[in-house]
Amino acid sequence: MMSTTQETEEARLAALEHYALDELPHDPAYDDIARLAAAVTNSPIAYVSVLEPGGVRILGAHGFEPEAEVARDTLPCELTVDADGVYQIPDARRDPDYGMNGIPFAGRSFRFYGGAPVLTPHSISIGCLAVLDTTARRLSPSQIDSLESLSHMVTTRLELSVRVRQRDTATRARQRVETALTMERNFVSAVLDTVGALVVVFDTAGRIVRFNRACEIISGYNSSELLGKYAWERLIPEEDVPSYIESFERIRNGDFPTAYENFWTAADGTRRRISWSATALVDTLGEVAFIIATGIDVTVQRVAESSIRESEAKYRQIVEGSLGMVCTHDLDGVILSINDFGAQLGGRRVEEVIGRPLTSLMDPFYVHEMEQYLKELLRDGESSGLLHLQRPDGSMRVVAYRNRLVEPKDAPRYVLGFGVDITEQIRAEDQLRSLIRQSNSVLESVGDGIYGIDLQGRCTIVNNVAAQMLGYRPEEMIGRNMHELIHHSRVDGTYYPSNECPVEGSLKNRNSMRVANEVFWRKDGSCFPVEYVARPLIEAIDPAISQVETAAANDTLALQSSTGVQITPLHTATSGAPANPRAQARAVGVVVAFTDISERNQLDRMKDEFISTVSHELRTPLTSLRAALGLIGGGALQDRPEKMKQMMDIAIGNTDRLVRLVNDILDLERIGSGKAELHAIQCNISELFDRATQLLQATAHKANVRFRMEPNDVTVWADPDRILQTLTNLLSNAVKFSPAAANLPSEIRLTASYISPDEALIEIEDHGRGIPVDKLQQIFERFKQVDASDSRAMGGTGLGLAICRSIVHQHGGHIWATSVLGEGSTFHFTLPTHPHGHIR
Ligand code: ADP
Repeated sequence: MMSTTQETEEARLAALEHYALDELPHDPAYDDIARLAAAVTNSPIAYVSVLEPGGVRILGAHGFEPEAEVARDTLPCELTVDADGVYQIPDARRDPDYGMNGIPFAGRSFRFYGGAPVLTPHSISIGCLAVLDTTARRLSPSQIDSLESLSHMVTTRLELSVRVRQRDTATRARQRVETALTMERNFVSAVLDTVGALVVVFDTAGRIVRFNRACEIISGYNSSELLGKYAWERLIPEEDVPSYIESFERIRNGDFPTAYENFWTAADGTRRRISWSATALVDTLGEVAFIIATGIDVTVQRVAESSIRESEAKYRQIVEGSLGMVCTHDLDGVILSINDFGAQLGGRRVEEVIGRPLTSLMDPFYVHEMEQYLKELLRDGESSGLLHLQRPDGSMRVVAYRNRLVEPKDAPRYVLGFGVDITEQIRAEDQLRSLIRQSNSVLESVGDGIYGIDLQGRCTIVNNVAAQMLGYRPEEMIGRNMHELIHHSRVDGTYYPSNECPVEGSLKNRNSMRVANEVFWRKDGSCFPVEYVARPLIEAIDPAISQVETAAANDTLALQSSTGVQITPLHTATSGAPANPRAQARAVGVVVAFTDISERNQLDRMKDEFISTVSHELRTPLTSLRAALGLIGGGALQDRPEKMKQMMDIAIGNTDRLVRLVNDILDLERIGSGKAELHAIQCNISELFDRATQLLQATAHKANVRFRMEPNDVTVWADPDRILQTLTNLLSNAVKFSPAAANLPSEIRLTASYISPDEALIEIEDHGRGIPVDKLQQIFERFKQVDASDSRAMGGTGLGLAICRSIVHQHGGHIWATSVLGEGSTFHFTLPTHPHGHIR
């Protein structure tokens, strides 16, 4: 007998674990082996057992009902396990381990025991196949062989169980994997069918092996119709098949992942554009097993993109082609984009401008406005105003802009700006303003009255001169119908219909009119004779010319006024027709320039009168002269010397008179026209009185007239010769018109006095016939005499007082007469006392 070592015990345990007997159900095969063992050994009972640490486990039994576990020392299992071959106890009664009771087992007592160890394929003894008999005996050699063979069968059965168990485990594992795989597959399918993307899986030949739900929806085909088919059989449009096959080949040959777009023809014949991303699924050997393509339907997107591209291109064209500045800038004023035209406005190229601050394009004077502008944009979302650009060459452009803050959902805010170059417009406006100023100053500086009317005859413009002449304030006239206001009646008071008015005529005919014999009516109801020029305002109408060129701006408004003032305000003078030959013109109003010709009429009358008077005055002495000389020349008086002398005296007298007359006329003309210069000095009036009275002494004596002088030490600032001429004129008149009384001499008083520090008054008083009150002013006019006979009777020319008045006026003084008829007259005149004496 060999003892069980620890080592063998552990090896046995390991072997038993290998067989995992606990996990196995009862195997009837071990009962069968036990029955066979009992049979071949002629034993009543037999069993198969394994030796476990806690006891003996009966695997199969014959001839008894086994307990699950038997105590180790109950049966001689341990000895059998350790035995080398079949272990026998021939008679237990004789064995010291058992004694007379034999081997007690299963309620009985046995004398004989024979057991063969059960060995694993690695020769580890794990249990035994034993037989028991109630009688003592030995096993025959064949029985021993049989028992050993049967114990091998136990091992074989155990091994088989292990195998079976292993196989079952493997099967279960495989089944688990398969289940997991199925689940995974279902999951993938579900995922594939729920995702919106198109997923198609191809085998390496290009046949469809998966076609997800999204593909079915887009294509209109059921996956069952396509599985196993090539994509080009149904889906790929015919013309695209070659390129499709080519790209499929590329992917299959390893050129992946790859992205491409192609068209599908859907079941209903429509075309879809799909954007694909394809990759290959490789097997363990690195060979391509499947090609997986995922795609999205981009048909709508591409259409949208292309229409966006188109509209973008359109907008770009509009922006680039626009004659305005279009730009964007960020909230710091840095330019993000700008069109060509905009960059050119700043005198730069687009690439020079982008990325630069807007201020770098601006006139430095206006840069400070930028901050306010940006604030306004942020506050109001938009801003408009003027942008002053300074170009690199220093020139300026002014852009009128209207900019807006744009707030995209998923991009930073920016400012979109539109601007129009208004530099020329501003220049033109400046020019226009200065022209308006010019024409206003022309309007106000001319002596003529000027007013303008529109097509309805209403006053649109009137200068102060016109308003004054007509007795209105300018604002009272604006908007009023001028014909009805100032031109309603003719000079004789009869109604003047507006359709006969030349002003209206000039509007109709678009011709300038000059009218010289009409009257305008004042506010106070009086009228005055006028000469006027009515000139239509012509406006060009030309569709090609957007700006209206008014006649005032483009045409020459040449108003040749009666006083010779020509208003030529604006551009190049033309005939009044529009500058553009294609342009049509229309009258939009009339400008009327007029002058009050009453004074001129009076002057003309005076001139006519003067000429006729002068002719008359000259003819009278000439006629006498001619008659006297005729008589002398005829020889008829040769024998009558006294008559001859008389004729000679007449001729001489008339010649003197003619000379005086001509001298006076010349004097008057010289003084009146300013040709006779004044040589003013400080003069003592006393001296002048002396000289004047001396000159007239003889005449005065003849007329029995005395002079009384009261010069009062007055001095004046005057030309002594001219004042002497004035004094002698006045004195000679005083003498002439003083009555010649033989016994009582008449007195003529000459006085001088100061009436202010600046002004002296000289008076000559006579006691002659006097002058009627209504003639007191007239006598200072040329050839005006109180009595028509005065010239002949008194030898005067009628020009003396006119000359006096001219001289006094020339000195800045004035002259007048006072008189009491029949008692005498006084002539007064004033003179300055020093050079700048202001005496008027
Ligand atoms: P003339 O003496 O040569 O006629 P004047 O111009 O000197 O021309 O005078 C114009 C007229 O005024 C005179 O003809 C006369 O009728 C009137 N006149 C001028 N002086 C006197 C005077 N001292 N007394 C009365 N009449 C006068």
